Amino acid sequence: MDHFSHLMIEMEIHLNPTIMKRGLAYYRSNRIVDVEIFPSHVHGNVNGKGDEYETIVYFDRFERSICTCPFTGYCKHIAALVFTLQDFGIDERTSISSTMKELSNRSKEELLHLIQDLAVTNPQAHQALLKHNKKE
Ligand SMILES: [Zn+2]
Repeated sequence: MDHFSHLMIEMEIHLNPTIMKRGLAYYRSNRIVDVEIFPSHVHGNVNGKGDEYETIVYFDRFERSICTCPFTGYCKHIAALVFTLQDFGIDERTSISSTMKELSNRSKEELLHLIQDLAVTNPQAHQALLKHNKKE
């Protein structure tokens, strides 16, 4: 499973929808700069309201992800950094089958949340869903 899809599932579990939306808005207004991807984590700088924050998101241990802003818990900067990963393509080492294996362990509710988020953040995914529904 690629880092972005995996982290989207982690965010569904750990972040509330308001923080997700704010993170998405930050990502869309290009507030995340100097993104660097390492084997275990991604590092980025956030251009906040006059403040510079530093954010790190760990791929395999999302719960360890940190940000230098004053917010307690998972903040919109962490969410924005995860959204930024979309721009870096899919990890070559991962495959659809490993993604599906991971998803098969999720509840229907988690999957619906994930699909909703994919449709909101990814116009192509939304188009695919629309086409699929028309066939039924
Ligand atoms: Zn933050």
